Amino acid sequence: EAIRLGEYAASALDAVAAVVAEHETFLGKLDAIAGDGDHGIGMRRGADAASAAAAEARGTGVRNVLLQAAEAWSEKAGGTSGALWGAALTAAANSLGNRGTYGDQDAADCVNAFVSAVIELGKADPGDKTMVDALLPYAETFTHEQSGGATLSQALAAAAKAAKRAADSTAELSPKKGRARPLAEKSIGHPDPGAISFGLIAEGVANTLEP
Ligand code: ADP
Ligand code: MG
Ligand code: MG
Repeated sequence: EAIRLGEYAASALDAVAAVVAEHETFLGKLDAIAGDGDHGIGMRRGADAASAAAAEARGTGVRNVLLQAAEAWSEKAGGTSGALWGAALTAAANSLGNRGTYGDQDAADCVNAFVSAVIELGKADPGDKTMVDALLPYAETFTHEQSGGATLSQALAAAAKAAKRAADSTAELSPKKGRARPLAEKSIGHPDPGAISFGLIAEGVANTLEP
């Protein structure tokens, strides 16, 4: 089962890399408004390295696939978001481990581990205008949908929608963390790049599970 899930994780990381590549320019421009403009290139370097590392680790079980991807991502991406994505994927890997069977609770635990790792490392509060503002509604919606009887695919899709909506809503916020903070005035009216990239990625991952 861990092997099968490892195959899924590798495919999901391919989807992540494809989505990031598709939106690289847009993410860079968004980060240039109040940041340093490198969110597109950083995310692309990280996601490309992660999907290559995952492909190489295919067949070794989901924990190792995600750990290799995490290490590659933080190493190649640089920047704040690279470190956060690396930590999040490491936490997801360790949460899943290499078990014989997986159930609904494992998926919810994995999502929550991913989100908690970002909060633990970045120390952002909700409303600070970071990717946390998309991650929290994602985890909340995923858990809620699953406990209401949704399939994994349905829960991922609903969570992705919630993350995208929340990411768009960060436009009205004033940044309290990261590079955008000193340029808060410029940031108002534009969404947070890391929240937006997470919403797009969540949508891409949900689509890989569609029949
Ligand atoms: P850098 O800011 O180092 O250039 P990126 O441009 O790749 O890195 O990523 C910027 C994004 O990282 C922000 O839009 C925000 O979503 C996220 N971010 C920055 N600081 C934090 C933090 N402390 N906690 C959570 N997310 C953060
Ligand atoms: Mg940047
Ligand atoms: Mg930077």
